[in-house]
Amino acid sequence: MRTLLLNPPSFKSFDGGAGSRYQATREVTSFWYPTWLCYPAGLIPASRVLDAPPLNLGVEEVAAQARDYELAVLFTTTPSLAYDLKTAQHLKAANPNLVLGLVGPHVSIRPEDALQEGSAVDFVARREFDYTIQEVAEGRPWETILGLTYLDNGTIRHNPDRPWIEDLDALPWVSDIYHRDLQIERYHIPYLKDPYVSIYTGRGCPSRCAYCLWPQTFTGRRYRRRSVADVAAEVRRALELFPQAAEIFFDDDTFTVDGERARLIAQALQPLKCTWSATARVTTSYETLKALKQGGLRLLVVGYESGNSQILHNIHKGATPDLARTFTRWCKELGIQVHGAFMVGLPGETPATLEESMRFACELDPDTIQVSLATPYPGTEFYDFCTSGGYFRPGALVDGDTGYQKCVIDYPGLPAEEIFAAVPMFYRRFYFRPRYMWRAAQTMLVDREERRRLLKEAREFFTFLFRRQQDQACKP
Ligand code: SF4
Repeated sequence: MRTLLLNPPSFKSFDGGAGSRYQATREVTSFWYPTWLCYPAGLIPASRVLDAPPLNLGVEEVAAQARDYELAVLFTTTPSLAYDLKTAQHLKAANPNLVLGLVGPHVSIRPEDALQEGSAVDFVARREFDYTIQEVAEGRPWETILGLTYLDNGTIRHNPDRPWIEDLDALPWVSDIYHRDLQIERYHIPYLKDPYVSIYTGRGCPSRCAYCLWPQTFTGRRYRRRSVADVAAEVRRALELFPQAAEIFFDDDTFTVDGERARLIAQALQPLKCTWSATARVTTSYETLKALKQGGLRLLVVGYESGNSQILHNIHKGATPDLARTFTRWCKELGIQVHGAFMVGLPGETPATLEESMRFACELDPDTIQVSLATPYPGTEFYDFCTSGGYFRPGALVDGDTGYQKCVIDYPGLPAEEIFAAVPMFYRRFYFRPRYMWRAAQTMLVDREERRRLLKEAREFFTFLFRRQQDQACKP
């Protein structure tokens, strides 16, 4: 079947597509690659990936393009599901013969949400959907396709789960699909060099972080690895396809889970003389960090989450503030930049722990930070915690006009408003320190490109803070 793999239109600059762990409009414009959609695209010859948000395409434009296809697969998320179901209806109205499926973490856990009466959706491919979509596109009988939930004369049928994919080397290289269907200049993450190319070297994560979406809904609790040779060969290919790429980003759930393999990949990349960045945990050893640096590593993205030991324990982070301190010190010694991720509103949060986390971030002093509202996505332990504890405040996960994150949690002694207000306060406390501002000024003085980028991001950031505050002030 001629197949359209669609990251559907959404809020302006909504970064919630098939590659984004936190589905929201971010402080500074950012777009992850729709990587998950690119795997089935590589398996289906007559296919195309259409990533609507970075192209700023609306529903009508997408529906017009979908007329040429027999099968459309939309990546959906919890905050965008209602909007995506409307998009599905538009697509079906424009092309009544179109077979239409949804994929993504939300429908992996709750496929029924997409298959209600009157829905334009014909099926859901649960969890890893690469081969499920390939088999649908080949026209196989639906009752034989593992991982499929579908409507059968008004009855919802759930086929058995598809086993996790063990041979990841057998999957196509997403870089080829990026080259065929996407413009890499459209993808931007503030802490990565522009333009970047993102690939996964493995899937899944053995850590048990209670809030973390993908391993609990989509990729599993076991780290499955591509071979070192396959990773190095794809990087070589990506550098040939995209000579303009400033860096490669390994966006695994956690690239450093297997230290020995991470070191081997670094060794294999060394002759390529490319710049690359990756995700990491604060438990990464000095030996591994050193080897990664020698292999061309520029930056690590690490989830510190909180400066409070009890909260780290509550969320099963498997890390402590002291481990975070040591990791950060080692990175500084080795010249590895760090982008630190923090969250506010995790289980056990109080006004005192918010203060502790802000102080902790300033003490660690990573190069950049991001602060997110803890979001209880269905399928996560955090969601169950909020449900059983009665901590949910009714409402959408994101603002209906802007797509900015909203706070949907109320704790005794810490209402949603205070958690929401902690985000801009956290940013101000971190970025308005003389130490950070001095560092930014030095960078801007010596690097024209960095100056342009930092000024643009500062503008976007202040607009974000202003609009977010206005939204909060205006809406119940
Ligand atoms: S280590 Fe990272 S990817 Fe793994 S469960 Fe925790 S937050 Fe998720």
